[in-house]
Formats: sequence, C-alpha cells, structure tokens
Amino acid sequence: MQLVDEFRDPLLAKKVVDHINAVFAELPYSRERPLQIMEVCGGHTHTIFKFGLDQLLPDGIEFVHGPGCPVCVLPMSRLDDFMTLGEAEKTILCTFGDAMRVPGTNGSLLDANARGYQVRIVYSPLDALTIAKENPDHEIIFFGLGFETTMPSTAMTLKQAKQQGVTNFSLFCQHITIAPTLKALLEQADIRIDGFLLPGHVSMIVGSEPYQFIARDFQKPSVITGFEPLDVLQSILMLLEQFRDQRCEIGNQYQRVVARQGNPMALKAMAEVFTAKHSSLWRGLGHIADSGIQLTPDYAEFDAEQKFTIDPSTSVEPEACRCGDVLTGRCKPIDCPLFGNQCTPTNAIGALMVSSEGACAAYYQYRLEV
Ligand code: SF4
Repeated sequence: MQLVDEFRDPLLAKKVVDHINAVFAELPYSRERPLQIMEVCGGHTHTIFKFGLDQLLPDGIEFVHGPGCPVCVLPMSRLDDFMTLGEAEKTILCTFGDAMRVPGTNGSLLDANARGYQVRIVYSPLDALTIAKENPDHEIIFFGLGFETTMPSTAMTLKQAKQQGVTNFSLFCQHITIAPTLKALLEQADIRIDGFLLPGHVSMIVGSEPYQFIARDFQKPSVITGFEPLDVLQSILMLLEQFRDQRCEIGNQYQRVVARQGNPMALKAMAEVFTAKHSSLWRGLGHIADSGIQLTPDYAEFDAEQKFTIDPSTSVEPEACRCGDVLTGRCKPIDCPLFGNQCTPTNAIGALMVSSEGACAAYYQYRLEV
C-alpha cells in the first residue's frame, strides 16, 4: 500500500489545502459566484466524494461533474441494439461488469441473462476471445466500451483474433474519444465551466497534446489529474495558480503516469485497428462529430454491426431522468426528481446510478444526507 498511502497522507493534504486557501483568497470568486471546475472523469468524482475533498475546500469552489464515464454516456438505444444481437441462437454476449446493470428499454443485460440470453462478464476483451475459441459453434460478440483507456486492449485482441484466424468473434463498437467530447461541451453556450480536471487514465494513452485546444481556443485552464486524494488537491492548487497568474495551459499533475506523447505502442495498435466515425450518439450530448470509433477496412470482418443485421433502436431516455443534464454539468444528481426514491443503485433508472464511476452513484453512496 506504500504507493497509495503517500498520496493519502493527511498532513500533506492539510498543507496543500492551506496553499489552496491562500491562493484562492487572491481570486475574485465567492460562494455567490463560485469557480466552477469540471472533473471530467467519474473516477475523480468518486475520489472527491469518498474522501470529502469538496468539504476541505473554500466555499467558492464548486465541482461540476463531467461526461468521462463511458458507461454513463452510453445511450439507451445502443444498449438495446447490443442486446438485440443476443436474441439469435448460439450467441454469447460478452461485456464488462459495469455495463450489466445499465437499464435498456427491455431491462438490463442482467435481466436479459435471466430471460435466457447468454451473457458473460469478462475482465478483458481477451477473455471474450478465449470464450470464442472454446465455443467454436457459437458467435461471441464483445461490447467494446470506453474511451482511449480501453481501446488498446480491444485493438490488441482484434489483432490476435485476426492472426489466429478466429472467425466466430466480433466487436460491437461503442468506443469513444475524449477530445471531441470536451469540444462539444465547450461549444454549448449555457454551460459554465471555468477550468478542467482532465482524466488521468485516458491521458496515459493519448498524452497531453490532444487537449491543447482547450487552453488555446477556449481559454480554460486545465490539469491532467491522478486519482488519489492528494493528486486531486494538488491539481486544484495547480489550477488556482493558473488563474492567479493569468496563465492558461494544460498542466500535468499526473506525470508519474502520463507522458506528453502518450503511449506510442498503444496509439500504434489503435491506429491500425480503429478509425474515427463521422459522428457518435452520446447520452445527454446528442450526436458529436468525430467522437465515435469504427473498425478500419482491414478489420471490418470483426464488426458485429456489419456481420449481423440490426434494426437500430430509436428508444429515448425515460422521462424525468436528468442523466444528460448531470453529465453536462447543467445540474447535480440531487436535482433529479428520481434521485434516491425511484432511482437507487438497486433499482436504477439511469446509467449514472449503476456505473462504478457514475456521479449519481457517488452522491448516493457518500452524500445521501445532503
Ligand atoms: Fe439519471 Fe437516476 Fe441520476 Fe436521475 S438519479 S440523473 S435518473 S441516474
């Protein structure tokens, strides 16, 4: 635990909080006009709430929760489409555990499993490929979910499937990219974001270059941030120092993991297997240009949407659900009328309540008394 403990040291945390208070005192923000910081990644949301970091900070700092949880931004219609594929005989759907309880129009994948569909939880796409090799008379369809963090493992698995000539394995691709999403957010006039805590895991793959437009074109100070409490506190201090010094740049607090150029080997594998799709549908953000991912022509044989016929679902999110507004920082989970009554972790209406990175799950788990 040594590597973790040093980023949870209470004495060090107090020192950083003292610095934050001192720098914040020089800024023109207050409880009435707070500095609004979007933590893009749901992992950061959970760190902030689990360790009560927001309660250590000056009143005039407000966290706005962002769209960096891939399960949360998954539109219901895409889940429905994936589930439809499981209706065929001798088909096994594979997915990460987080996606199992996300509600679709006809219930979740967990419900589908109970109805007789074959749905398996896997820890990596390679597990799904192993299932394909063990079940040559079945079609194995892997639900590829996630930002650039999970794309390299999907890419490497497809490369392996191709090399090994596995023909009963395919990908339902719901991979998405972070930079177009942030651009789409920044272009929405009614959302006020003063600065960003940028996601550490995605940045480990893409590096800091793809974010430069945030500082250059939108003048928003930002810091790539790790996931321990001291990482988050130090990043907030780095952000405040940018505001105080009237600088605007992409800082990198998570240098122990994130290199400026990202991970070249992972990027190379991704470039071979994936290419940008014209647009992709997001919960809460609608269609975002260039944010989706599809397979390159060399890997099209593994594209489940080309291999099988799907009648695309047109379902929309349930009425009164405010997942989209929470994901875009327009409101907090507790502003949703369903929060904590009709929507709970055991009876979720929206994905933000079931994902381990969901903002509503964080509020429910750590702040129900708010
Ligand atoms: Fe969505 Fe439930 Fe959160 Fe409301 S409480 S925003 S329905 S996840």
